[in-house]
Amino acid sequence: MSRSLSQGKLYIVGIGPGAVEYLTKKAEKALLGSEYVVGNGTYLDQMAEVIKGAKIIRSGMGGEVERARKAVELSREHVVSIISGGDANVYGMAGLVLEVAEKEGDVEVEIIPGVTALSAAASLLGAPVVSDFAVISLSDLLTPTDVIERRLNSAAEADFVIAIYNPKSRNRRQNFGKAVEIIRKYRSDDTPVGIVKNATREGETVITTTLGKIMDYNETIDMSTLVLIGNSESRLWGNRIITPRGYQRKYEY
Ligand code: SAH
Repeated sequence: MSRSLSQGKLYIVGIGPGAVEYLTKKAEKALLGSEYVVGNGTYLDQMAEVIKGAKIIRSGMGGEVERARKAVELSREHVVSIISGGDANVYGMAGLVLEVAEKEGDVEVEIIPGVTALSAAASLLGAPVVSDFAVISLSDLLTPTDVIERRLNSAAEADFVIAIYNPKSRNRRQNFGKAVEIIRKYRSDDTPVGIVKNATREGETVITTTLGKIMDYNETIDMSTLVLIGNSESRLWGNRIITPRGYQRKYEY
C-alpha cells in the first residue's frame, strides 16, 4: 500500500467501558499525542481529563458517517484520534472509518484495542463467559430484523453463552422481549442471566437472575445495558454466574 509522506496519522481508539482507569496505556498515549480528538459527546466527556490539551470535534449520535469523514480528512495533515466506546471493533467506529479511509486512500491508520463492555460486564458478574460465546446486537438500524432473529436462534440452539449488546434504544423497546422468547425455545427457565447497566461508570447496576424471570427487569434494561445469558452448564453462585470451562470433566478439585 502506498502512503503519502504527510505528517498526519489517524488513531481509532477504543476507550473502554467508562471509567478512565480502564483506558489502556497505549490508548492514553495516542490521545495525549493527538492534535484533534473526534467523538460523540458521551465518550468525549468520559475522556475529558485526558484530552483537555486537544482540539475537540464533537458530534451527536447518528452522526457517524460525518464524524468518520471529518477524522479521515483531518488526518492527512494532523495527528487525529477518533474515539469509540469499549473496543472500536465491537459495534464501534473501526469498520466505518476504515471504509471511508479505503475510499479516500493515503491515510495512515492505527487501531488501538479497548476493553469492551462484554469484558467489563462479565467481570462484574463473575465468570459467565469462560466457554464459547456469541455476541449479538439487537439494533436493527443497520442489520435487518430477520438476520438478527436467525442469529439468535442459531446461537441459542448451539448452546453458546449469549451476550446481547444494544438490547433497547429510545425508539426500539419491543424486540428485547422477542429475543428472550427465541432464546427460551432452547434454554430452560433456570438458565442464569446477568444484566449489567453502566459498567464501570456512574449508575453501575449489576443484576443476576434467570431466564424465566428476566422480563421482571424489563424496565431496567436500556441502551446502557448489556445482557448475558448463560449456557446449559452455567450456574449461579450467590449473586455470581459461573460457566464451567470444562476442568471438572478432567480434574478433581
Ligand atoms: N464498542 C462498544 C459497544 C458499542 S454498542 C464496546 O466495545 O463496548 C453500545 C452497546 O454496548 C450498549 O447498548 C450496551 O449494550 C453496551 N455497552 C457499552 N458500554 C457499556 C457499559 N459501560 N455497561 C453496559 N453496557 C455497555
